[in-house]
Amino acid sequence: MTQWRMLTCCGIITCLVSSSSLEDRASLESPVRFDTPLRFETTVQRPVEAEGIGLHHGVNVKIRILPAPPMTGIVFLRTDLDRFPIAASWRHVARVSYATSLMRQGVLISTTEHLLSVFYSMGIDNAYVEIDNLEVPILDGSGDPFVSLIQQAGIRVYRRRKRYLHIRREVTVEAQGKRISILPSDTFALSCHVYFDHPLVGHQRMDMEVTPEAYAREIAPARTFGFAWELEAMRDMGLIRGATLESAVLFDREGVQNPEGLRFRDEPCRHKALDLIGDLALIGKPLLGHVIAERAGHAMHTALVARIMSDPSLYELVTYDQIGARAVSSMAASASAGAPAAMAV
Ligand SMILES: [Zn+2]
Repeated sequence: MTQWRMLTCCGIITCLVSSSSLEDRASLESPVRFDTPLRFETTVQRPVEAEGIGLHHGVNVKIRILPAPPMTGIVFLRTDLDRFPIAASWRHVARVSYATSLMRQGVLISTTEHLLSVFYSMGIDNAYVEIDNLEVPILDGSGDPFVSLIQQAGIRVYRRRKRYLHIRREVTVEAQGKRISILPSDTFALSCHVYFDHPLVGHQRMDMEVTPEAYAREIAPARTFGFAWELEAMRDMGLIRGATLESAVLFDREGVQNPEGLRFRDEPCRHKALDLIGDLALIGKPLLGHVIAERAGHAMHTALVARIMSDPSLYELVTYDQIGARAVSSMAASASAGAPAAMAV
């Protein structure tokens, strides 16, 4: 089992480094720097695979995650259709009701958000995902199984410098009492608010800076969920054909029907954060910004992504070293102006 540990650089960004990748990093840089996976593009070290059922289509599906070269991004390959490629990009968003689906030239990949959320949060920039059907398997309904796969695969670091998408000014999308905004920040941070009229849910909120360790601990285990009184309508829409109590939390009027109960008191809010990150991953570059989501769903998440990506004045592409250098010069400027050091960061 790979050992994982938390590392910090200048208090700017934090990261997990797999100890199994030490050899790779040593071959890249001398002396080895602990922040190498933040500075350079990554992929998985070795192939890993999983098998399960699609949540909505109910089909059996196998996926295999493979290393991919720098600048590839995450690309799905439909092995049942001559390895037809569909990049995990906002340009290919097809459907956004209850799950995010990608489509290119009529070929679909459904329910991409959980797997993409894990790639994004665990710092994997490039990978091929071979898939032999039209929907990513739901597994236990959370990101945990995919986190385990990435840990099993290990991380390989390339020589190409990673480019971050740094938000320059606020962007907001809102409609019908739902709202999502992104603010400039030198970290990737989330604030999620949800409200469901249920005695176990109600109003829930979480705020966090997304690092691989915090994600694996606080967000990845949160499962997808539904309400018993909505099942019939969803089935009538051709959805949730693969849902079971092993792959989703089911709320009834009083509580949850899953015998093991909830994994967190605020599991729905944490799962919404997981979904949100999976949709932000369609940007295709690691994000530096503070996202504030209030009752937003897939449609609003992907609308925010499209809004950002269609206006290049809203962002700049920067390297990790550029962000670090700016932080250092800002600290120096504050110090020379006589500001207390604690306020300079
Ligand atoms: Zn989800």
